[in-house]
Amino acid sequence: MKRTKQTLLEQMKISDVEISHRMQLLTLNKDELDLLYSHKKIIEDNIDIIVDEFYEKQTEIDEISLLIGDADTLIRLRTAQRKYVMDLFSGNYDSEYVNNRLRIGMVHKRIGVEPKLYLSAVRTLKHIVTKSLKRIITKREILEETLDALDKLLYFDTTLVFDTYIDSLVGEIENAKSKTEVYAKSLEEKVAERTKQLEEQAQKDPLTNLYNQRAMQESLRRDLSSSKRRQVKLSFVYFDIDKFKDINDKFGHIKGDKVLKNIGQAMLNNVRDTDTPCRYGGDEFCIIMPECNSEDAKSICERIIKEFRDKYPEISLSIGIAETGLDEYIDGDTLIKKADKNMYLAKEENGFQIRV
Ligand code: GH3
Ligand code: MG
Repeated sequence: MKRTKQTLLEQMKISDVEISHRMQLLTLNKDELDLLYSHKKIIEDNIDIIVDEFYEKQTEIDEISLLIGDADTLIRLRTAQRKYVMDLFSGNYDSEYVNNRLRIGMVHKRIGVEPKLYLSAVRTLKHIVTKSLKRIITKREILEETLDALDKLLYFDTTLVFDTYIDSLVGEIENAKSKTEVYAKSLEEKVAERTKQLEEQAQKDPLTNLYNQRAMQESLRRDLSSSKRRQVKLSFVYFDIDKFKDINDKFGHIKGDKVLKNIGQAMLNNVRDTDTPCRYGGDEFCIIMPECNSEDAKSICERIIKEFRDKYPEISLSIGIAETGLDEYIDGDTLIKKADKNMYLAKEENGFQIRV
């Protein structure tokens, strides 16, 4: 439930039983409260003197004077203080009385009155009220009992004021803590996202967005061992652009880069989800094709060639394919060498060539 929909009494869970318990702890009983009530009239008659003296003393303290700030605030405070002093002798010490004391704690915390200033004010007030009572109550025994009751009631009020003061502080700490937690969580998410991006960047060739040679080697190791376990074939394809150096020389590096990008795109457009197309380096590319024999690999290559040729009819590719499994599984390096060798054999002939 929203705090603003609950009274302080509800927020602090102070029931009637709790109020009685607090009074018992201070040995504040009904007779003493009645005794205070019996002096209501005396206090009423002296209220202006009491409040005047109280603020005279309070405003002598620089810190308090600074906190009060201006004449209008002082007028408001005087009214509130009048009411408080009258409440002390009102005869009603019920939940409403308690709720008002709790509010004082909250307000003091809010305007920055530290406990030392609050306690000093309580002492000053007690001293002034005591003086008034002493002037008027002649019977020593009654005076002593009244002062004792007043002392207990002021203690009772102070416990309530401090409880909300502390609760308000704890609330601030919890608020700051939850803000920090939210911030830490958002940082964690950012770091995780950035780490993922960096990991991906470290695996990719920036020009073509294909996997780089290092990532390819890792994939090949994984795919080979999985193919062996599942008893399926794996094909490895090696591409090289024919006379790429001439393209750079004739048309410039930017055009050369565009050709490399387009061959990368043609590869991405035609491979299966399980295949891993990579840029091996320079104008050399390769594709790992798990669960694929050399014949199927060849037809995928033909699709890539078609797409590439539509864009660049004057540029040709040499392609070598090597297959491994089912009888024997060769290691990654040997497989790459075999495909590379086939690529060179293809290059010996002119134009688009695929050698298996
Ligand atoms: P071959 O037919 O024997 O394959 O000859 P080639 O010219 O294609 O092969 P070679 O290995 O002699 O030259 C490859 C060229 O690729 C040389 C290098 O300048 C160029 N190259 C390497 N990386 C890049 C790149 O990122 N962008 C561009 N534009 N050119 C690159
Ligand atoms: Mg080349």
